Amino acid sequence: MMKALTYIEPGVIKYQTVEKPKLLEPTDVIGKTVLTTICGSDLHFWRGAFPETNALAKKNGTRGVILGHEGLIKVEKVGPEVKNFKPGDICIVSCVSSCGHCYYCEEGCEAHCAENGGDCGCILGHEIDGTQAEYIRVPLADTSLYKCPEGIPLESLLMLSDILPTSYELGVRDGGVKEGSTVAIVGLGPIGLAALLSAKALKPAYIVAIDLDDTRLELAKKLGADYTINPKKEDPVSFVMKLPINRKGKQPGVDTAIECVGSPTTFELCQKLVGMNGIIANVGVHSKPTNLEMERLWIMNIKITTGLVNTNSTPELLKKVVDGDLDPSPLITHHFKLSEVEKAYEVFKNASESHAIKIVLTPD
Ligand SMILES: [Zn+2]
Ligand SMILES: [Zn+2]
Repeated sequence: MMKALTYIEPGVIKYQTVEKPKLLEPTDVIGKTVLTTICGSDLHFWRGAFPETNALAKKNGTRGVILGHEGLIKVEKVGPEVKNFKPGDICIVSCVSSCGHCYYCEEGCEAHCAENGGDCGCILGHEIDGTQAEYIRVPLADTSLYKCPEGIPLESLLMLSDILPTSYELGVRDGGVKEGSTVAIVGLGPIGLAALLSAKALKPAYIVAIDLDDTRLELAKKLGADYTINPKKEDPVSFVMKLPINRKGKQPGVDTAIECVGSPTTFELCQKLVGMNGIIANVGVHSKPTNLEMERLWIMNIKITTGLVNTNSTPELLKKVVDGDLDPSPLITHHFKLSEVEKAYEVFKNASESHAIKIVLTPD
C-alpha cells in the first residue's frame, strides 16, 4: 500500500492509503516518487471542473482518483517493451503521456496523442491516477519520461514536467519571441513567471510584466522583467503605447502579447497591447467566451496562437537548464512533505496571501 492525495468529489480531496500501482501495459514504468508538486489546474480538478475526472472518481467511490501531473521518479519496475529506462534511473515525468508514433505525435501535436487511452495528452491525474503519491505509474514511458541530468538540483528539474514546457511552447515559442523583439506578459502566476524566464533567455528588447499583485510584480522584476505594471495603479495600454520604438518605422504595441490567465479581461487586454504584425499567444485556460476584436485586428496582420502543451520542447529546455541559460529555481517558494499535501493545497489556493508560486512536495 502507499499514501496518495486523492480527489473524491467536487470540493473534496483526501490524503489516504491506496494500493500501490502495478504495471498494466508493456510500455509502463512504475517509479518511486522523488518530488512532486501542485499545478494551478489541480485547483480546477479540486472544484470538480473536469467531467472525466468526476466520472472516474464516482466509479472509484471513497478511493477517488490520485491527482497531480508533475513529478520526478526513481524507476523501480519497467514493462517488457520499455527500452530507454532501467530501474534506478531518476526521471522527469512529463505532464503529457504520448506514444511518439501516432498521427498527432508525428505531427508534433503530442497534446492529442491517439494512443494513450485518454481524450488528450494530459491523462495523469485526470483520466488515470496521477503523481501526488508515493509511487507513480507512467504509461508510454519511453516517450513520456526524461532522464535527469546530473549536477542540476532536482527541484529545478521538477519545473520541466509542466510549467516550463507549457509557458515556453504556448507563450514564447508560438509567440515568436526572439532576440530584439518586444514582449508583454499578462498574468504572473507560475506559468507567467515561467514564460518570463524562458522569454528572457532569448534576449528580447524588453519584457513588460503585468499583474494585479505587487509581490508577483516584484518577483518578475527580480527575474528580469524590464517594466512591471499593476493595472490597479496604471493603465498598461497607454504605458505600452508610449514605450520607445526599437526599429525604424515600427508602430507602437508589442510584438508578442502572452496571455497567462485565461479570462476575457486579460485576453482583451492582450488584443490592445499587441502591435502591427504581432502575435497574441494564449496560454491561459479559458472557461468563458471572449470578445475578439476582429474589426480592428484583421488589418493589423495579427496572429493568435493557442493550445494545450505538447511537451516536445522538453529536451531543448533541459539543455538550456544544463547550459545555465535557464534557471527555474526562483519559481520555487514553498516546501512540504507529501503527508502535508492537504495543507499545501490550502497554501497554494491562497496564493495572494501565501505568495506561493511552486510548492515542492517530498515523500516522507
Ligand atoms: Zn499543470
Ligand atoms: Zn501518440
